[in-house]
Amino acid sequence: MKNQNASDQDLKFSDLVDVFERLDATRSGNEMIEILSGFFARVPIAVIDITSYFIQGNVVAEHEDVNLNIGERLMAEAIARASGKSREEIDQLHVERGDFGLVAELVIKNSTISGEPLTVRRVHDQLLEIAHAGGSGSQEAKLNILANLLNLATPVEAKYVVRIALGVLRLGAGTMTLLNALAVTFTQDKRNKKYLERAYNLGGDVGLIARTVATSGIAGLSQMTIQVGHPIKMMAAQRVQKLNELFERMPHGLAAEFKYDGERLQCHKRGEHVSIYSRNLENITAQYPDIVDRIRNFIRAKEAIVEGEAVALVPGTTDQFQVFQVLMRRKRKHEIEKYVEEIPVKLFLFDVLFVDGENMMEKSYPERRKILEKLVSKSELIEPASAFISDNPEEIEAFFLESLEKGFEGIMAKSCAPDSIYRAGAREWSWIKWKREYESDLVDTFDVVVIGGIAGRGKRSGTWGALLCAVYNPELDRFESLCKVSTGFNDEDLGKLPEMFKTAEISHVSPRVYSKMEPTRWFEPRVVLEISGAELTKSPIHTCGMGDDESSPGLALRFPRFLRFRDDKDAEQATSAKEVVALYKKK
Ligand code: AMP
Repeated sequence: MKNQNASDQDLKFSDLVDVFERLDATRSGNEMIEILSGFFARVPIAVIDITSYFIQGNVVAEHEDVNLNIGERLMAEAIARASGKSREEIDQLHVERGDFGLVAELVIKNSTISGEPLTVRRVHDQLLEIAHAGGSGSQEAKLNILANLLNLATPVEAKYVVRIALGVLRLGAGTMTLLNALAVTFTQDKRNKKYLERAYNLGGDVGLIARTVATSGIAGLSQMTIQVGHPIKMMAAQRVQKLNELFERMPHGLAAEFKYDGERLQCHKRGEHVSIYSRNLENITAQYPDIVDRIRNFIRAKEAIVEGEAVALVPGTTDQFQVFQVLMRRKRKHEIEKYVEEIPVKLFLFDVLFVDGENMMEKSYPERRKILEKLVSKSELIEPASAFISDNPEEIEAFFLESLEKGFEGIMAKSCAPDSIYRAGAREWSWIKWKREYESDLVDTFDVVVIGGIAGRGKRSGTWGALLCAVYNPELDRFESLCKVSTGFNDEDLGKLPEMFKTAEISHVSPRVYSKMEPTRWFEPRVVLEISGAELTKSPIHTCGMGDDESSPGLALRFPRFLRFRDDKDAEQATSAKEVVALYKKK
């Protein structure tokens, strides 16, 4: 009886590890879903949330501000301790294998464990303890916990403990793969993924969704609502080629807002407590203590969720702005206060999703805008985005030019139609961005995901000569290749590339990547770049928009050029294959 209870509450870590091994061996997205759905049926509900986090290589929900901060040195030391090998031996093996997971599997010898087997909960508890170790002596404490944990693991378990602890699991099971598998297991129909996706967009994390659908099915999911502190998937904008198209796409009228060139922030306030999330829903509260104060003091509600763009100011001014790249220097863990002074910011709020218990997302844009204006006590460093309502193209153009003059990127047109609600996670026609470069036939910009690297030669040896890049196809949950980018990088960018992609390298193509081109190294699709390009052409090699018919041509971008890294975007927030196909058809 005791055993039965125990297995209701926990899962042997080796069961999860078996699944990891199977996922690692497959090259097919559908097979991944099959493996996972078979597995979820056997996972006790009590640990289905942490099991889901582990499958994605995380320890907690993505939006939680929990970091293990285990560096390579600490890991090498822990493996040395647990295996009885010297640090030199471990370092040497690491140089040879390039993966601490493989090193641990090789040197940890506890193939027959005399004590209790490791469980998912036990591994989770220990990793959380590492995350919470702080203050002086924290390194030693982390080392002890990690070495003890590895001591209890079999070699193959050790491989995965190490990869999770370092944040480099890279099994390729994206959120959509997981939601698909959960839909199959608990609703018997993959098509029900849309209900899980809705809950995910509203701020549910994969663990919470897994637990909810496992206990109360679709009915439980539909009761999930917004919660302050759970970031909501952000709404994205479409693009048009000509200013006039804005009016065609928005027959119920539009408001133009400045399109600020900064970082999008979703700010959650509950009393004195404020948390801030980036475009990819990472908790970045620590980077913006100044914004935390302003949300606390200038938002007239006890509870609220608002969105806006933080823009870097020229120090000492409140109306002269600097570009996005300057703001990105605030992406750091240390010396925040110094950077708050060096790079002051102003916050322009452009949306409101929740106020004092009331969901505002279902209201139209004009209604939300009115609520927003009342909610914000305007001050020099926080105010609603400048908005201008007109049905006259010339006036909108004048507003657009004013935006460029101020150093912003262009305008965001927002539909004023009765159904212009806030659609979490969607890229639809109720928001349209318009930048100057869209008008010319020569340049267009794309956010692409790097899926592979081509080794550099000559001047570029030791770094990547070109990066194989893809767009995202949400219908098929896969990344489709668009181009190889090799120009536009300055020396500093080039120097950064090897380090940047070191943790993304995988030994085979990700099951979520569809590419006919073979790079020197495959990468887990994670890093997003903004690039410009000259022209879209049909291509037998690139797979963008190719659909299921592999013999039909895809689309390629000619003369692609690197513009900047988009650290604030997830792979799934890249330009979609559909957008590229639509652009091609327009030309
Ligand atoms: P995209 O991410 O390509 O859909 O472009 C939209 C981005 O423009 C948003 O994610 C915001 O970061 C940024 N942005 C700047 N100003 C505004 C605004 N007034 N309304 C909405 N988004 C804005």
